[in-house]
Amino acid sequence: MAKTYDPNNVFARILRGEIPCKKVMETEHALAFHDINPQAPTHILVIPKGAYVDMDDFSARATEAEIAGLVRAVGEVARGAGAAEPGYRILSNCGEDANQEVPHLHIHVFAGRRLGPMITKG
Ligand code: AMP
Repeated sequence: MAKTYDPNNVFARILRGEIPCKKVMETEHALAFHDINPQAPTHILVIPKGAYVDMDDFSARATEAEIAGLVRAVGEVARGAGAAEPGYRILSNCGEDANQEVPHLHIHVFAGRRLGPMITKG
């Protein structure tokens, strides 16, 4: 069953221009902006413009153009941040066990320091 999208989530409001963001780049299908509470020297969020709750929802319902647009944007953001060579990490929390806070799909792009182990032990 499709997840219900909350049109008043904070990233939906950013997309509508109701609250500001520190924009990094924007394309037809994606918007990238700096995380308000950065966990690394570079911490950028890349979101689809469409109303998708998380990766589960996006991978099931998004068009090929939307999927390509989001993936291209992630690569462009990382290259633009100068992170392609030293390296970077992408992460997307999906649902409760992942502690997803904002119910609009977002890809975190972390870079700018050694990022440590992939995941902490439970
Ligand atoms: P997640 O836990 O994966 O849902 O991550 C949500 C992220 O959104 C966190 O890293 C927050 O710091 C970030 N965040 C929340 N509100 C804003 C905002 N208004 N502008 C930028 N980033 C935000």
